[in-house]
Amino acid sequence: MLRVHCPLCGERPYTEFRYGGDASRARPALGTSSLEAWHDYLFLFDNPKGPHREFWQHEQGCRQWLLVVRDTATNVVREVIVARNAGPGGGQGPGSR
Ligand SMILES: [Zn+2]
Repeated sequence: MLRVHCPLCGERPYTEFRYGGDASRARPALGTSSLEAWHDYLFLFDNPKGPHREFWQHEQGCRQWLLVVRDTATNVVREVIVARNAGPGGGQGPGSR
C-alpha cells in the first residue's frame, strides 16, 4: 500500500489523504483570463510519466495541504513538504496560486 510521510504526522497510508490536483500548473489570474485559458486549466490535463508535483491534503490527519513529488511510473513518493512552506507555487494548496 502506498504510504505518504506527512511532515507533521509521520508516515501514513495514502487512504488518509485527498488528492488535490496538479501542482505544476498555474491557475489563470482571476478576472483577467480568457474563457479558453480557464477551460484549459479546468479540463485539460497532462498524463506525465515520472516525477510529478501534486497537491495532497492530509484530510484524516492534520488537514494540511502538502506538496508531494510522486513518481507516476512507480508510485513512489519522493518528497513531501507542507504547501505553505513551498514558496511561490506552493501557497496554501490548490487554487491559491
Ligand atoms: Zn499530517
